[in-house]
Amino acid sequence: MTKVLSSTIGYPRIGEKREWKKTLEQFWKENLTKSEFLSEMENLRTNDLQKQQDIGIDLIPVGDFSLYDHVLDTAVMFGFIPDRFQHKGGEVPIELYFDIARGNDEAVASEMTKWFNTNYHYIVPEIESDAQPTLTENRLLHYFLEAKEKLGIIGKPVILGPVSFLKLAKGYEKEEFKNLLKKLVPLYIQVLHELERAGAEWVQVDEPILTTPMTKDDIQLFREVYDSMQNGVSSLKILLQTYFESVDHYKEVVSLPVAGIGLDFVHDEGANLDSLKKHGFPRDKYLAAGVINGRNIWSEDLDTKYAQLEHLLSEVEKDRLIVQPSCSLLHVPVTVTTEQDLDPVIKNALSFADQKLEEVTVLAEGLNDGRHTIEKNIEERTRCIELLWKSSSRNQADVQKEVELWKDIEPKRSTHYSSRQKIHQDYFELPLLPTTTIGSLPQTKEIRQARLKWRRGEWSDEYYQSFIEENTYEWIKRQEEIGLDVLIHGEFERNDMVEFFGEKLDGFAFTRYGWVQSYGSRCVKPPVIYGDVSLTKPMTVKEITYAQSLTKKPVKGMLTGPITILNWSFVREDISKFEVTKQIALALQKEIRFLEENNIHMIQVDEPALREGLPIKVEKQKEYLEEAVYAFRLATSSVHDETQIHTHMCYSEFGEIMDTIDQLDADVISIEAARSHGELISDFEKKSYEKGIGLGVYDIHSPRVPGVNEMESSILRALDVLHPRQFWVNPDCGLKTRGINETTDALKNMVEAARQIREKI
Ligand code: GLN
Ligand code: ZN
Repeated sequence: MTKVLSSTIGYPRIGEKREWKKTLEQFWKENLTKSEFLSEMENLRTNDLQKQQDIGIDLIPVGDFSLYDHVLDTAVMFGFIPDRFQHKGGEVPIELYFDIARGNDEAVASEMTKWFNTNYHYIVPEIESDAQPTLTENRLLHYFLEAKEKLGIIGKPVILGPVSFLKLAKGYEKEEFKNLLKKLVPLYIQVLHELERAGAEWVQVDEPILTTPMTKDDIQLFREVYDSMQNGVSSLKILLQTYFESVDHYKEVVSLPVAGIGLDFVHDEGANLDSLKKHGFPRDKYLAAGVINGRNIWSEDLDTKYAQLEHLLSEVEKDRLIVQPSCSLLHVPVTVTTEQDLDPVIKNALSFADQKLEEVTVLAEGLNDGRHTIEKNIEERTRCIELLWKSSSRNQADVQKEVELWKDIEPKRSTHYSSRQKIHQDYFELPLLPTTTIGSLPQTKEIRQARLKWRRGEWSDEYYQSFIEENTYEWIKRQEEIGLDVLIHGEFERNDMVEFFGEKLDGFAFTRYGWVQSYGSRCVKPPVIYGDVSLTKPMTVKEITYAQSLTKKPVKGMLTGPITILNWSFVREDISKFEVTKQIALALQKEIRFLEENNIHMIQVDEPALREGLPIKVEKQKEYLEEAVYAFRLATSSVHDETQIHTHMCYSEFGEIMDTIDQLDADVISIEAARSHGELISDFEKKSYEKGIGLGVYDIHSPRVPGVNEMESSILRALDVLHPRQFWVNPDCGLKTRGINETTDALKNMVEAARQIREKI
């Protein structure tokens, strides 16, 4: 039967109510035995497979599931275990697997970094130049057989392709790339071979790196690799999957020697679609058409999507077309059906993973059985989308007017940094190498439970507030005891750095279970920006001024920046992202004014998500960065001279955005550095940076308490490049996920390290 197939590139791991996260954490706390843990995970996994089958997906992915991260899975599968974990070879026990991700008492965790332009973080594989990969286990085979035997599903195993995998890894000499690839490809072939023998028809090999800049040589390399992989099996069909953006060399990519090619038809303004119209698509190949947006949560306009697919049918045979989302659904929440409290106008216009799969199947059904069979479905969705578009929340004249007012004004601080620096020195009287932290302090179970009780109405506002104040009080005293120079209020009142602000701003909606995995067991619940954004009353003044009232040391005001609020939300698509960012920036500008009016003159505006929003396509980066600078300055530059603006970013690839960092014109920036093992410092060597900077001196992602010497040496290393007058001493990121004792100990060591160095210089 000639039939269009439905598929998906990947499905969320975390479960409808984050069961996956809870199971993982129970295991880490040793509340579950290993076998209980594994069987619980198996249940979750097979339930999800079953669900996808019930929705009617033809090609169901297997092996996209992970106990932590799929890049780490790939590294472990091929035996790339960093030496410091002293693995003797052979199968990798899950304890070791988690140690690589999270660190242990003897060894630091592997670095973690953002997965392309998403907020998902993967564990960076560490590969030595002379590494000898071995197949430690064929996890794909395991998952394939599980689906087949338990559910009768002939799944589509998914694996990260060898080229992307190696390009995302670090530790080896560039010249060794081809050599390593040569060693790796036979192992991939072995994996495919075993899958084929077990009855697999398809395998999805992900090569997202193809959407980043590629040279002709790279493409040639792809040709060789995939030639040997496809030839290494007889009937197994390789689907070479790309996502997030359009591919760099369309013609060459679609003619790579594999059975099928998967393309993103949503992002990059449909560039893949344009290329396809222009250059066609090879008749002998399958086309996996990523027409449903896997990165956002709005219902699709099925009418347009249907027309797109129909057009594709003039290029590909019906039985060679696969309908699917643009990327793995890992990046969207699981299902809208559990949302009970949302305004129906919003809810009806939303589409999470399960609904996206329904959209996929509806489209495939229409193509197979005729459009009339899905007409009702199309109409219903169109009606819901229109209702939201026309709602008053999206048409706030005053908000739009204010953005318009700023159009011709350049947001800029009135005094140059060099003069501001002197003003700040006199105003704050801080020692050299001032010590501080990033904003949040341990959010203990008690705090999270208190918030829950308050949200459920079991605690009154007053009671909850005094509870928060007590914690703030304790920690202000504790920070003073530790000897920190600049204090924070601790963010105890905040659930999440974006959600907290979104709840106080107009134009945001919140889901109950709309979680997505960020890294490991950590999930985030991005707010939904559905309308025009504005601020009606102060958001943070009460907590910050309370904390400041308890101490003579400066307490930093703590805000989340416009780009981060945008990048960590699901954003409406009827106006440009930049327009939305400006609305947010103006709201923050007002908040900053409120803080200043209340005598808070050190204000940190976090932008941890600035880098991750960087478009993959180089041509688009400049505009994005300019807009980011504009928005940050729109929010922060109307302050008085004595106000010191801080910002914080938690990642280490700074090279390419160095100029942007400078242009933000923040007086102090704190950034992640501990996990990147010092690589970052060379970026500062290359460019002279004069403003205040705090390179994280210890990794907060791990419970390990680093010693004084260790932190001293990381400070000293930074001082080779940075002037002591500009250097701040702080951890890598917020301390929210850490325990009280480990935090106190680590901070004491940090303060001591700073003290000892002050004496030496
Ligand atoms: N101020 C925030 C905190 O400390 C920053 C978090 C972040 O960088 N992601 O939690
Ligand atoms: Zn951070």
